[in-house]
This record gives sequence, C-alpha cells and structure tokens, in this order.
Amino acid sequence: MKRTKSILICGAGVAGPACAWWLKRYGFKVVVAEKAASFREGGQNVDVKGAGQQVIAMMNLTMQIDAMNTGECGQKWLDAAGRVLATLPKGSVGGLTSDFEILRGNLARILFDATRDACDYRFGTSVVALDESAEGVWVTFATGAVEEFAMVICADGVGSSTRALALAKQTRLRYLGAYMAFFTIPRRAGDDSWAYSVNGIGGTMIHLRPGGLANTTVLVTFPAAPPAPHEKQVNSVHDARHMLRAALSGRGTVAERIVGELDAVRDFYFGPMSQVQASHWSSGRLVLLGDAAHCPTPFTGKGTALALVGAYVLAGEIMRCASHTEAFDAYETILRPYVEKTQQELTPRLVRMLHVKTRSGIAIARFVQRLLGSRFIQYLLAPRAVAHARSVEADFALPRYQTDA
Ligand SMILES: Cc1cc2nc3c(=O)[nH]c(=O)nc-3n(C[C@H](O)[C@H](O)[C@H](O)COP(=O)(O)OP(=O)(O)OC[C@H]3O[C@@H](n4cnc5c(N)ncnc54)[C@H](O)[C@@H]3O)c2cc1C
Repeated sequence: MKRTKSILICGAGVAGPACAWWLKRYGFKVVVAEKAASFREGGQNVDVKGAGQQVIAMMNLTMQIDAMNTGECGQKWLDAAGRVLATLPKGSVGGLTSDFEILRGNLARILFDATRDACDYRFGTSVVALDESAEGVWVTFATGAVEEFAMVICADGVGSSTRALALAKQTRLRYLGAYMAFFTIPRRAGDDSWAYSVNGIGGTMIHLRPGGLANTTVLVTFPAAPPAPHEKQVNSVHDARHMLRAALSGRGTVAERIVGELDAVRDFYFGPMSQVQASHWSSGRLVLLGDAAHCPTPFTGKGTALALVGAYVLAGEIMRCASHTEAFDAYETILRPYVEKTQQELTPRLVRMLHVKTRSGIAIARFVQRLLGSRFIQYLLAPRAVAHARSVEADFALPRYQTDA
C-alpha cells in the first residue's frame, strides 16, 4: 500500500505500540493517539503464550521481556485460614505460572520505548468523529484538531469509544457471569515468589502474585448478576469498592488482608468479565485491533498474546495488500478462527465451575487442588503437559511477511 499518508492508531496499550512497531518497520508513518494524559503504567501479571512469544522474538524483544520476568516460581492453593492445600511449581499441569510472566505495565513500557522515537505519540487526546473521503479519512480529535489519515486502527481496549463511531451495532459484550478487580497492595513479609490462590464460600476467588520489589498484585473474581445495559464497562470507583468489599467479607485471612488495604489502593481496575465479540472487525477505513476487536478476558491468559499476534498480522497485511479493504479482509480471515477458538475455551459454565459457591462444591474443588498438588498425579499427567505445551506452541501458524521497505 502507498505510504504517503500517516496511519492513525488509537490506544497506546499493548496492541497499539506493537502494531506501530511493525508498521514503522514496513516504512509507514504512524501517529498514536492515547486518551490518557501520559503513558499508562500499571496492570498485573500477564503471560505471553504461543505465537505471541514468536512475535516478541521477531521484534528482538525477548531478552528485555525476560529481564522483566516477575520471577513467579509457581502457585500455592490456600484454604480460608491461609494454610497451604497444594503446591504447583512452575510447569505443573493445572498451575497458573508460565515461563513468560511479566507485569502488563512493564510489557507496555517495553513496546512504547521501542517505538516512541520513531512514531508520533500524542497523549491526552482521542477521536470524536470520522469522515471518509476517496483517498483517506478525516479525523476530528477531542482537541478540535482535524487531520487526514490513510486509515484508523482502533486499539483502545475493551471499552473502545473509537469502535463505537463505526461498529457499535456490530459489537456485543458477552458477559461470562463474574466481575473482576485487579490492583496492587504493598508487599509484606511472607510475600515471596509464589502465587497464592484461594477460592471460598460465595464463589469469590483470589490470587495474590509477585508484583515487583514493593508490590503484590491482587486479582479477585466473583460471580454476580449481569450489569444493567446502561451500566458502564467499568463502574464508578465507589460502587466498585462497595461490591468488592461485599464479595470479600467473611472470606478468610487473605480476603481480610485485601479489605484492610482497599482504601489506599490507587490502581484500582474493576468491571464485569466480558468478551468483546464483533461480527465485523472493519468498516471503511477503520479497523479493530486487540481487546477492542476481541477481548477474551484476562481469565483466558491469552489477551496479550492475541493483541501481539493481531498487531503483527494487521501490519503485515497492510504492507502486503494493494488496498486497505483487501488488507482488513485478509487480516480478519487469518486471525478470526484463532480468536474464536480462544474465546470459546472460556464459557459461562466454566466460569461458574471455577467460582463454586457451595460448601460441597468447594470441598470438591479443594480435593482436585490437592490431587493436582500431588507429585504422583503430576508424574502421571506429565505426558499431557508435554502434549499441551506443544499444542500451545502450535496454536497459530504465523504468516511470514517480506519486508519491502
Ligand atoms: C491500565 C491497564 C491495566 C491492565 N491490567 C491488566 C491485567 O492486570 N491483566 C490482564 O490480563 N489484562 C490487563 N489489561 C488489559 C490488557 O492490557 C489487554 O487485555 C491486552 O494486553 C490487550 O491490549 P490492548 O492494547 O488491546 O488493550 P489495553 O492494554 O487495554 O490498551 C488500550 C489503550 O487505549 C487507551 N484508550 C482507551 N480509550 C481510548 C480512546 N478513546 N482513544 C485513545 N486511547 C484510548 C487506554 O488508555 C489504553 O492505554 C490492562 C489494561 C490497562 C489499560
């Protein structure tokens, strides 16, 4: 495609900077508009799996990402009193910890640093209107500025307002039956390199994980009625903390610790666990990328890998194809089956099973956790682990693109 006009990317999270990196490599001019006033730090332990790892390797960023590994050595399941029920070292079947554990903010920072000098980053702005012409798309920014671009890539996350300008009717949020909250609390004695997980009465599940020298990261998920249609994706902070307190009340020692820290939390993220499902990923010169197109929810552990893979494929097709229409169609044809498979792995039924509410359900869950924590069971399951690792590696065959710039 011609490289005369700049490409606009909305969102400087993970997908936006990754796509900017590839587009620059192919010789395109790139502007990145980010709504936040400055680069957004923060976020929790994300892992980069399968094809996402290959994309990182092709970007020559593996060493930088390895250097930022959280060092998590495995997962321990606890009971409500904080006693260890099961220990699952890294690599165990059914364990949480993968090889590529990194804090989301660190990953986003690495991608931002790798592109900030080559791309035109504009913070504190977003797109409010789009007007297509034969040669491009006129974009009106919240600042009032109007500028023409070759195309607009919406990488502005699960609640994308840029997506709403062109693809509102084609997009739905599939609520999975639980709310989630993630934030950090100060690290304290006893917080080590293990992830600590508890599931308790009422279905509340808690994970505490290593979050750097000063912090421990917290992920709480709990079953709840679907949000009302008018409710925002992320609730007001007051309501959110109220709902979270209720979900943690009387849920044991780990929950009590979190409640004690809640008022001081600054990086509070809270919302319904919903997948983004869009029947079309593009309209005219606008195309969706990352969570804005297909957020699978943090529970799949694959949102970041999908964002990296999508960024690579979209940029590659934009470089390879003669027109934006051809490129967007090819991108969707290549990526959609992988995305749908990933999303279907997490069903409301599975979310319900993971958040068992009753005493008998929890007793069964703890029995399974103990079983998984047994060395003998892990020995029996080892061949499955190898097969699973191979299937994750082979989960998506990345297309190869010739650099023609
Ligand atoms: C602060 C933060 C913390 C997160 N923490 C976790 C976590 O702990 N665990 C987890 O699994 N996932 C987390 N995520 C989501 C995770 O980053 C994504 O699922 C995944 O990496 C895909 O990234 P993305 O770039 O598509 O979306 P995101 O990483 O969500 O990035 C979207 C970016 O777009 C910006 N933006 C929003 N609206 C607009 C707009 N209208 N115009 C321009 N820019 C806009 C946002 O500020 C953000 O920088 C977090 C996201 C954010 C923003």
